[in-house]
Amino acid sequence: MAEKKSILVVGGGISGISVAVEAAEVGYEVYLVEKSPYLGGRVAQLNKYFPKMCPPYCGLEINFKRIRPNTDIKVMTMSEVQKVEGGPGNFSVTIGTAPRLVNENCTGCNKCAEACPAERVNDFNYGMDKTKAAYLPHPMSFPMRYVIDKSACTGDCGQACKAACKYDAVELDMKPAATQLNVGSIVYATGWKPYDMGKLDILGKGQIKNVISNVMMERLASPSGPTGGKILRPSDGREVKNVAFVQCAGSRDENHLSQCSTICCMASIKQAFYVREQYPEDSKAEIFYIDLRTPGRYEKFLNKAQADPNITFTKGKVAKVVEDAETGDVTVEIEDVFGGGKKRVTVEMLVLATGMEPQLAGAPGSVAVLTEEGFAMSDLQKPGIYAAGVAKAPVDVATSIQDATGTALKAIQAIVRS
Ligand SMILES: Cc1cc2nc3c(=O)[nH]c(=O)nc-3n(C[C@H](O)[C@H](O)[C@H](O)COP(=O)(O)OP(=O)(O)OC[C@H]3O[C@@H](n4cnc5c(N)ncnc54)[C@H](O)[C@@H]3O)c2cc1C
Repeated sequence: MAEKKSILVVGGGISGISVAVEAAEVGYEVYLVEKSPYLGGRVAQLNKYFPKMCPPYCGLEINFKRIRPNTDIKVMTMSEVQKVEGGPGNFSVTIGTAPRLVNENCTGCNKCAEACPAERVNDFNYGMDKTKAAYLPHPMSFPMRYVIDKSACTGDCGQACKAACKYDAVELDMKPAATQLNVGSIVYATGWKPYDMGKLDILGKGQIKNVISNVMMERLASPSGPTGGKILRPSDGREVKNVAFVQCAGSRDENHLSQCSTICCMASIKQAFYVREQYPEDSKAEIFYIDLRTPGRYEKFLNKAQADPNITFTKGKVAKVVEDAETGDVTVEIEDVFGGGKKRVTVEMLVLATGMEPQLAGAPGSVAVLTEEGFAMSDLQKPGIYAAGVAKAPVDVATSIQDATGTALKAIQAIVRS
């Protein structure tokens, strides 16, 4: 066994978490470095996840239970890699950590937020509501510790939350920190971000209030979302019973994301079920698609939707989206491939199935060559440095976990071989 036994995992989504627990449970020390204040990545922001349709915290909590007692896993949130030097068995890495302004004494009691007079846009809910400047990222946050967003603080209002904290957890003068690590191998599990709706000219450029993205729909349907789980439309807070979905919104398009994100058809079908379950009597969902992709066992999920007469599928490319300024309704114009001619459909809300855009490019020290879409081309380009999950390809949670488990083995082998 080589001398160095540590593995650095960059990205604390389901893929990074899986690499960390698998490697740590066979005796390797793991540094799990996550740039946001909590673990769980995009999965934490889902309402339910297919195929089982359970809340994301079923799956995440099982992993948090494995992390909590395992002293070999060092979780570093609000942290990013700044520099990587060296090679397999002996990488020297610098990690920068932003100040959370709340230390480990925090019990999650919420008193700081109650006392806080300032607000910030809630990025967890994709900007659809606000939190206090002293906030818990979300109700199931791991670690269950508040954060203070200094950029949202006004004057010396920080004194109010400091005074409200009985546990001396608020540390307004906390400074950015740099940590030097020596690790034997590195795994990048940096996942994805939603493709920017603002770039989609014919689909409203992100300017039409009742045209939202699929990730926003997850938050609208979630009990911890901005509407407490009631699907209400952004313009006027009305119940939404007539919804359409546009597939491949910016995906499979050379001008945007050239790849198929593989999960968007499943995500829209899932979200059509959210609407049908909330308003079973009189809701309707229409899905506009170019090709429906529900491979393997996911075909049953599609079959279930096709069996519901209130969920319809129309094959064709959307040509135009227009807002009715008076009602806030949205009209979609589509070339109907099977029906022939142009079809115009007016709905209360339109959901764009925007794809998964990788965020590996620019991560210091990461795998050398990326595909033209920005995913890790091959995980053997730089010895000892690997990619896992959506950093490698746009895939679902189950595939991410499988890939992460295999990648943990590669990271271990790099250490053993060195
Ligand atoms: C609308 C929608 C619905 C979906 N629904 C489902 C579903 O129901 N079922 C299903 O199986 N799949 C679903 N998916 C797919 C699922 O979200 C992905 O499979 C999953 O997020 C992959 O996890 P990951 O850890 O690879 O990436 P992520 O979830 O993106 O996690 C990556 C993590 O890395 C962190 N990070 C990024 N860059 C850095 C950096 N430089 N330094 C430190 N940290 C960094 C991020 O903050 C994040 O926490 C859905 C996707 C979409 C778009």
